[in-house]
Amino acid sequence: MLKLNNFKKYLEFQEEVKENLKNLKELDDHSPLLKENLNLLKEKGYLGVPYPKEYGGLGLDYLHYAIVIEEISQICPSTGLAVAAHTSLCAFPIFKYGNEEQKRKYLIPLAKGEKIGAMGLTEPNAGSDASAIELKAKKNNNFYILNGTKRYITNSAEAEIFVIIGTLDKTLGKRGITAFIIERNFKGFNIGKEEDKLGVRGSSTCELIFEDCLCPKENLLGKEGEGYKYIMETLDGGRISIAAFSLGIAKRAYQKIIEWEKKNETKSEIVYKIIAECDTLIESATLLTYYSALLKNQGERADKESANAKLYASETAMKICDYALSLYGYYGISKELELEKFFRDAKICEIGEGTSEIMKLIIAKEVLKNLK
Ligand SMILES: Cc1cc2nc3c(=O)[nH]c(=O)nc-3n(C[C@H](O)[C@H](O)[C@H](O)COP(=O)(O)OP(=O)(O)OC[C@H]3O[C@@H](n4cnc5c(N)ncnc54)[C@H](O)[C@@H]3O)c2cc1C
Repeated sequence: MLKLNNFKKYLEFQEEVKENLKNLKELDDHSPLLKENLNLLKEKGYLGVPYPKEYGGLGLDYLHYAIVIEEISQICPSTGLAVAAHTSLCAFPIFKYGNEEQKRKYLIPLAKGEKIGAMGLTEPNAGSDASAIELKAKKNNNFYILNGTKRYITNSAEAEIFVIIGTLDKTLGKRGITAFIIERNFKGFNIGKEEDKLGVRGSSTCELIFEDCLCPKENLLGKEGEGYKYIMETLDGGRISIAAFSLGIAKRAYQKIIEWEKKNETKSEIVYKIIAECDTLIESATLLTYYSALLKNQGERADKESANAKLYASETAMKICDYALSLYGYYGISKELELEKFFRDAKICEIGEGTSEIMKLIIAKEVLKNLK
């Protein structure tokens, strides 16, 4: 059951974030400007929102974090995705499963924004099905030796700290899956080609190559064979940030629809219906996203709720961008207006951190599991 107290503080925080992001740049290609954006966010503490102050974070909760991602993504979805991957996918598993020494060594610089983080799960033959991963980790005295390839990893051009998911024994299935903390300069670890993609082009997405990569045994994250559990919990939180990211894109496109009607004053029933539908979609997506963040604040797993939020908010972003593009006619698809970029960025919401089909599978499984 959700306990909702003092919601006003979140709305005030949202205004403060808007004010603090005034100089954030909007990116449509991977460039040094991403680093400038990340530096600005570092100064404001927005690279470690949900982590305790003693570990370099702002000591705020998941809803504050979702609000930060939403506001960044209204301006620059590429930066929003970079911050989401850094905070939810890399810093979170270290915070949750790392030992004290690992938290001091890795979480503090991540949460302070001194170092950027990434997480590598996806492989050429393993995307939606995380249990299919093939990156081999073999224990050898004081090291694990890693061999394999990761694909489509956000932040890989900037990151210095990587949480990498491998398997100690593929025949064990999920029970062989294990997580490691890898530093960029570890021997045998290299960044491969950068992907040339449809949307969020300002964020880096590369291949990671492991060729007899030497990972010291101290960099095992948590326990051997428990990586699958860690990654499922990590993705649960990650989905909240992708819902917030989608919400930011949806709100920006909705704003453009309102501006269009204000300028053209068509007072047409068709346009009014579009506005009413978009408004309802956004309010609903906001509630689902904030609700799953608030559940997470209470320390509860929110697999179904975060999947509800991610599914709904990502489809909302896509739909509203589509409406906006159509309303503006040829100008909508022109590079002069930012809408075509937001339309491209919106498609990523439906794929990253679990596709819409996978969200539906999670929701249905959770519903059926909880039947008495
Ligand atoms: C911009 C971007 C950034 C990313 N960043 C990261 C990152 O930082 N780290 C990382 O590890 N990964 C990252 N990814 C990878 C992302 O998580 C995967 O793309 C996603 O999990 C889907 O996997 P896949 O692309 O291999 O598709 P596949 O799993 O091959 O799926 C292909 C299609 O089949 C459908 N499908 C698959 N299985 C089922 C099923 N059981 N039932 C019904 N339909 C199914 C899917 O819905 C999809 O439509 C990123 C992806 C993108 C686009």
